[in-house]
Amino acid sequence: MGGTFDPIHHGHLVAASEVAHLFALDEVIFVPTGQPWMKEGRKTSPAEDRYLMTVIATASNPRFSVSRVDIDRPGKTYTIDTLREMREIHGPDAELFFITGADALGEILSWRDADELFNLAHFIGCTRPGHNLADPGLPGGGVSLVEVPALAISSTECRERVRAGEPVWYLVPDGIVQYINKRGLYRGD
Ligand code: ATP
Ligand code: MG
Repeated sequence: MGGTFDPIHHGHLVAASEVAHLFALDEVIFVPTGQPWMKEGRKTSPAEDRYLMTVIATASNPRFSVSRVDIDRPGKTYTIDTLREMREIHGPDAELFFITGADALGEILSWRDADELFNLAHFIGCTRPGHNLADPGLPGGGVSLVEVPALAISSTECRERVRAGEPVWYLVPDGIVQYINKRGLYRGD
């Protein structure tokens, strides 16, 4: 599951947990995107903070892990590179799935090397409140659409809440509230 995870929140965790259950996955690997990366004109938090938050949020789940491949690869993050690297690490027999929310799935055809993406992994599109889940028309039926428990949480809203002095308790794991405070994230960007 790729993402900026700035910060990771319960919407990410519920989607990952539900897909792991539905597809009987051995492991869900969270892959925070690299830097430099301008998202909607905004500078993301340092990769190391996003990586550590992802580790903190997933540490207690034996099926969850975090990969540094995207944050350690220089330059912009492209999912095609992520999947190629995952294929190399896990070998030719590994069955790879890429988990994404409805909003990101809609953009997938515009991603770099879209044709090859679907040979490298099976894509799973999850429902997300406020977004329409539709098959983007990928070649060869390479996508499954699944309904996950609806959590109308976004990282954008979490950041805005922190900046406005509003609570993010229960939108993100407790350890993430504490990490955000400790590092003073999202106070004034
Ligand atoms: P931002 O608001 O900064 O874009 P985000 O909440 O969308 O953050 P991302 O890190 O961009 O989080 O998302 C990573 C992946 O998780 C994407 O595939 C996204 O669609 C999915 N996702 C994020 N939030 C949810 C949610 N509440 N329910 C289901 N999927 C989600
Ligand atoms: Mg997003």
